[in-house]
Formats: sequence, structure tokens, C-alpha cells
Amino acid sequence: MKSRHAKVIIIGSGPAGYTAGIYAARAMLKPLLIEGIQPGGQMTTTTDVENYPGFADVIQGPWLMDQMRVQALHVGTEIVADHIDAVDLKRQPFRLKGDSGTEYTADALIIATGAQARWLGLPSEERFRGYGVSACATCDGFFFRGKNVIVIGGGNTAVEEALYLANIATHVTLVHRRGALRAEKILQERLFANAKIEVVWNSELAEVLGHEDPRTVTGVGLRSTLTGDMTEIPADGVFIAIGHVPQTELFKDQIEMKPSGYIKTAPYSTATNIPGVFAAGDVADDVYRQAVTAAGMGCMAALDAERHLAGLDLLHEAAE
Ligand code: FAD
Ligand code: NAP
Repeated sequence: MKSRHAKVIIIGSGPAGYTAGIYAARAMLKPLLIEGIQPGGQMTTTTDVENYPGFADVIQGPWLMDQMRVQALHVGTEIVADHIDAVDLKRQPFRLKGDSGTEYTADALIIATGAQARWLGLPSEERFRGYGVSACATCDGFFFRGKNVIVIGGGNTAVEEALYLANIATHVTLVHRRGALRAEKILQERLFANAKIEVVWNSELAEVLGHEDPRTVTGVGLRSTLTGDMTEIPADGVFIAIGHVPQTELFKDQIEMKPSGYIKTAPYSTATNIPGVFAAGDVADDVYRQAVTAAGMGCMAALDAERHLAGLDLLHEAAE
């Protein structure tokens, strides 16, 4: 079995992971960043980015992540294509096992595993996932050119997905369980101004309708959240955009988490309850969840790890 040791290991290659890499490398910590199965993270699933500071023009999510990757490499971060499937945080150095079979050890660990799309958990959603049901318009929207699609949700993701799909599909129906959207006002204005988008308020997805051979979506069954009445709408595709869940399964029972599954960190810090383990970005942030805040927390995590390691060095020197 191959084994690798690094002073600092970063798990995740979203804005938090890459920024942690940039800062840790510039602190001469020779960080090793394990990128996981989604290099670049969630921002690679979107197109226009208008709120990442520093760019007067609209930029593209995948391009932004590529720039962060190149910058991290340029200052000395080693980026490894592997996915961690087991961790042992009970002893020092921390141990991680990669899908590749490599065992990694680290004196300090930065967890930046982010979040993934949340699903409703309906049997019909599961049955048609990949056959007309998706959680990523930029990935799958292309298949719905000239068709009718439904978007479920009322946050920024749902509104952006609806706007994106309106460029491709003939008609987009946004279904939201309440009578007001959670999305930013500027996005709401664009949504309401788009003639191809209709909003169905106070309704939830009860069932995805379709048939087998070939497995195809034909519509949705909606339930009114006010009256419980059922309606059916014909559709070719359904995009679920009801938020994200933190990717913390790997750390269950080893690190302190909130009941919602987000990793708990100390106030104004990325320190977890385990000395030497830090958490940054969406994995620890159930409030802001933005690329810029994830990047900021990545910076904090690298600085926190640097201070932790400097403390360990002092202890070793005193012991000698
Ligand atoms: P993520 O981007 O989620 O990255 C997590 C990383 O961890 C991935 O690289 C993954 O491969 C890796 N990983 C996970 N598990 C493992 C493992 N076991 N082993 C190794 N690696 C692992 N924010 C904005 O500010 N502006 C926007 O315009 C914007 N648009 C968005 C559009 C969409 C469709 C979505 C879904 C989100 C958008 N966001 C936007 C939010 C933004 O993408 C997130 O806040 C940000 O990506 C979080 O960064 P992160 O580094 O914490 O994690
Ligand atoms: P979100 O803000 O948590 O919104 C989730 C939406 O889904 C809410 O409207 C919620 O309804 C609805 N919902 C949740 N569970 C549901 C269920 N079981 N059935 C029906 N509807 C359900 O999630 P998000 O839109 O994915 O955004 C996640 C984070 O990424 C946010 O912080 C967001 O700002 C950020 N983001 C930013 C941008 C941008 O800056 N341009 C773009 C995308 C995402 P309620 O409103 O009733 O709770």
C-alpha cells in the first residue's frame, strides 16, 4: 500500500479547499490537497457568476475554479486526484484512506468537503433520476431543448436553474411550497420578467409521473400546501433545487456536528473539537454558503492550521 505524509492535508477542491491550499503553500507548509470526485466543487455546476469580487464582468463558475486551481498549484500546493473514503481522527497523525488505496497521514487536517444537492426522497424521484429528473441544470439542461421542464424550490439555486433552463426549454414552471421566494431580489426580478417562466405557488411535488421502456418523465403530480388538492402538469424534465446537505458522513461519530450535520467550529475560527482538525466552507456553514465566504473560511483554516503546527513545533523543541 502506498502511503503519503504531509504536514497539512486539505480534503476538497472547492473555493474553501483551493484557498486553504494557496495560504498553506505560501506559509511553506507544503500542503497536499485531495480533490475528490468533483474537482472544483459546486461552482463547476453553474454558469454565470456575478458576485465573486474582483471581476467587473460576468465570469463562468468552471473558469473561476480553474483559476483558483492554477493559483494553488502555482504557489506550491500539491493536488492529488483521489477521494477519501475513511478517516481516523482519534490519534495523531490523522489517518485518511483514499479510493486509490493510498493511506495518507497529516499533522493538521482541513476539511473542505462542501455540500451536495438535497433530494426530496420520493420513490418516483429516485426511479426517474437520470431519466428526466436532475439536480443540475447546467449539467443536464441541454437534453431539454424545446421541451417543458419543472423546477422545484424557491432559493437562489432554483431561480438560477429556472433562468438558465428558460434559455433552452420552451417553458419552465417553478414550483415553490410557499407564497414567497427565498432567492435574492435581483434574481427574483429576472425570474418574474421572463415570459417563459411561470411560478406555481404554495405547491409541493407529490410524484414524478412517467412510463417505462424507455424510462421517460411525462409530468408531475403537485399537492397544494394550502388545501392538499392534487393537480397534474405535463413535463419532460424535473429539476430538484431544494438546497444542499453538507458532506460530513465520512466524519460521523468522530467530530462534533450540529444536528443538521454541519461540522461545528469555534466562533470566529475554523477549529473543530479535535485539535489540529479545521473545517472550512459549506461543510461548516449553514448560514452564508457562498463561494466568497467559503474562500474566506479556507484562508482562515490555513492560518489556523499554521498556528496549530507552530504550537506543536514549540512543544517538540521544549521536549528536546
Ligand atoms: P464545494 O464547492 O462543495 O466543494 C467540495 C469539494 O469537496 C469538492 O471538490 C469535492 O470533490 C470534495 N470532496 C467531497 N467529499 C470528498 C471526499 N470524501 N474526499 C475528497 N474530496 C471530497 N456561490 C456564490 O458565491 N456565487 C454564485 O453565483 C453561486 N452559484 C451557485 C450555483 C449553484 C448551482 C450552486 C449549487 C451553488 C452556487 N453557489 C454560489 C454556492 C457555492 O458554489 C458554494 O458556496 C461553494 O462552492 C462552497 O465551496 P466549498 O469549497 O465549501 O465546497
Ligand atoms: P436554500 O437557500 O436553502 O433554498 C432551498 C429552497 O428549497 C427553499 O426555497 C426551500 O423552501 C425549498 N425547499 C427545501 N426543502 C424543500 C422540500 N422538502 N420541499 C420543497 N421545497 C423545499 O438552497 P439553495 O437555493 O440551493 O442555495 C444554497 C446556498 O447557495 C445559499 O446560501 C445560496 O445563497 C447559495 N447560492 C448562491 C447563488 C448566488 O449567489 N447567485 C446561487 C446559488 C446558490 P423555503 O423557502 O420554504 O424554506
